[in-house]
Amino acid sequence: MTPTPAISLITLGCPKNEVDSDRMSASLGSAGYRVTSELAEADVVVLNTCAFISEAVEEGIAAILELAEWKSGAPGRSIVVTGCLPSRYGDAVVPEFPEVDAFVQVAEETSLPQVISRLTETSNIPDSGGARRTLPGPTAYLQIADGCHRHCAYCTIPAIRGPYKSVPLEEIVTEAAFLVGNGAKELVLIGQDISAYGRDLATGVGLPDVLRAITALAGDFRVRLMYVQPDGVSDELLEVIVGSEKACRYLDIPLQHASGRVLRGMHRSGEANAFLELIARIRHALPGVALRTTVMAGFPGETSADARMLEAFLRDARFDYVGVFAFSPEEGTEADAMAQQVPKRTRLARAQRLRDIADAIGLEQAAAHVGDAVSVLFESFDEAGNSVGRTCGQAPEVDGEVVVSAHVPVGEVHTVRIIESVGYDLIGELS
Ligand code: SF4
Repeated sequence: MTPTPAISLITLGCPKNEVDSDRMSASLGSAGYRVTSELAEADVVVLNTCAFISEAVEEGIAAILELAEWKSGAPGRSIVVTGCLPSRYGDAVVPEFPEVDAFVQVAEETSLPQVISRLTETSNIPDSGGARRTLPGPTAYLQIADGCHRHCAYCTIPAIRGPYKSVPLEEIVTEAAFLVGNGAKELVLIGQDISAYGRDLATGVGLPDVLRAITALAGDFRVRLMYVQPDGVSDELLEVIVGSEKACRYLDIPLQHASGRVLRGMHRSGEANAFLELIARIRHALPGVALRTTVMAGFPGETSADARMLEAFLRDARFDYVGVFAFSPEEGTEADAMAQQVPKRTRLARAQRLRDIADAIGLEQAAAHVGDAVSVLFESFDEAGNSVGRTCGQAPEVDGEVVVSAHVPVGEVHTVRIIESVGYDLIGELS
């Protein structure tokens, strides 16, 4: 009997790629393949790539070259590259990487089992049609849409992931029920822009309806909203969050800048005062809410006055967390061809100043939690054996964590009294 090929998946990039990898892993498992996290055991490695900025492209290329060595380590090994790199560059990547056996674009990832059956000459691989997801840890990303209808001048994502596409509500609820039924204690709703959910559907449903439907599911779990565009924070959405104990009082709202002139250059809307009003409205509706945003320094045409306006805005807005990016001129984007490019040194210097301002405030916000009693979902242990978890105010992978010097089983939720903050992390004791 020919042993069933073993497949290993490596994921680069954002949570959306993590969901795609999880779905690919589930479909491979349903198709009868053995999915392993041990590269040494694998016959085929699937590298799920990111390509939204050149740094990510370089990381993908480095990973491919590293895997080429792995491939030469034993006969019959194959490399499959999926995700945003083949989606961004199409067939142009093929001659560049002779060591890669197959490229699979995002839109074709459901055909992965067939691609692997061809590569491994394993026949009779049925169409999976099985579980859409594997059994995650206590936290699972739930992708409710893909692609984007906006055309921010610096962004490659619409070209890579295509136009906005909502996942039908019933599928979202089925997947949420599957994840919760298999142990998920936190569902993180993601997409390029979850606030535009339903814009492509004739059903009239929107993000508030998705949140209502998910929080109506039985079970002890919480729900977090990531990637909510500012014009998508409706009063109805805030009401749904207020009305549900399961909805985390947490919002990730990418703003990118505070100068109306720069935002219009980006093909985005808004400006500092409108954003401050939005933040005040959110904080009024959701006292104690944790807010995250993303800003960009050095967009073409940004003047030092614009940069100072953004700095002042961050001081006024007092976000808990801020992702800071220096503008990266991406081939094929409108911004790449724009005049008035800001020198790289200036872009990086402005980004560093924004980082310093955001951190000074973020650390104050973290320290303000000392004395609080908070609900913590425990997810892992640190090297010292302490239990590590997160509150509703801390998103996975990007925000701080809570550390408790006790052994709490993964997946349990406990009340913790915060006794200290160390950077963005909170030190606590079980109470
Ligand atoms: S909203 Fe986000 S994903 Fe969409 S074009 Fe703008 S930056 Fe890109």
